[in-house]
Amino acid sequence: MTDIPFIRTHDFAYGIAEPQSRLVNRITADNPGPFTFTGTGVFIIGTRDVAIIDPGPITPAHTKALDIALENKTLTHIFLTHHHADHSPMAKPLATKYGCKVYGKPPVKGAVDGSGVQMDAGDDPGFAPDISIDDEDEFFGSNWSLKTVHTPGHTSNHLCFALGEENTLFSGDHIMGWATSVVIPPGGHMGDYLTSLNKVKDQNYDIIRPTHGPAITDVSPFIQAYIDHRLDREEQVIAALRIGHEIVIDMVTHIYTDIDKRLYPAAAMSVVSHLIHLCETGRATCVGPMTLAGQFFAT
Ligand SMILES: [Zn+2]
Repeated sequence: MTDIPFIRTHDFAYGIAEPQSRLVNRITADNPGPFTFTGTGVFIIGTRDVAIIDPGPITPAHTKALDIALENKTLTHIFLTHHHADHSPMAKPLATKYGCKVYGKPPVKGAVDGSGVQMDAGDDPGFAPDISIDDEDEFFGSNWSLKTVHTPGHTSNHLCFALGEENTLFSGDHIMGWATSVVIPPGGHMGDYLTSLNKVKDQNYDIIRPTHGPAITDVSPFIQAYIDHRLDREEQVIAALRIGHEIVIDMVTHIYTDIDKRLYPAAAMSVVSHLIHLCETGRATCVGPMTLAGQFFAT
């Protein structure tokens, strides 16, 4: 398997706006956990009239930190990368308090996680952008411009945001420095995910700022390793099919020999995601549903 050059040293403090660059400040919310690493990194773009990307969860400490950071500033836009509960719940109360709109992309109907396997922070039931946005929409402040980059894969509605002035991409959960992203059907889609990784790689950003953890500065090799890691996993799934493993759980025990058994449900959903991609690209077939219950064969 390709080793991804993960970056797990993360210099940050909770509850204050920390300058990241001339136009970017970040507040880290106090919601650390297995799916959020040290917590949600909330980005404030601009210096006087500002935009916020993913305002994060609703906690008293985080509310206070945002209020302090927004003193003497005008909040003009709240952008959402996707509808997970560690990213979007603060959007509505913040927009109401500061009198601005929430911008995001509604998820594709039916593309909600039905696996019952807890693999991320879960959905935000209150996700409801005021204004629906899509790929290549542009927004302007007095000294900043942001452009949307639709990156389905982690979820169907995932958006990244490119800050033109600093050739920076705010990548949400699409690309993270500390871990791989979760891609679980039906909301997550491996084929879309690989396409979206290549799309971002081709756009040649100088820096990627994920929602969780540190920035990625060696962008192109990092994304390539992220892609290669998925392709290696796919080859392992094909190899397992070829030696006669037909059932997902058999493939999991064959492929994931070095993980704790408690992680098998998560690994199984990842294998399903790869199997769907293999079926869609004609390299495998399935008898029954393309789920944990399916029976899969190499073509
Ligand atoms: Zn997420």
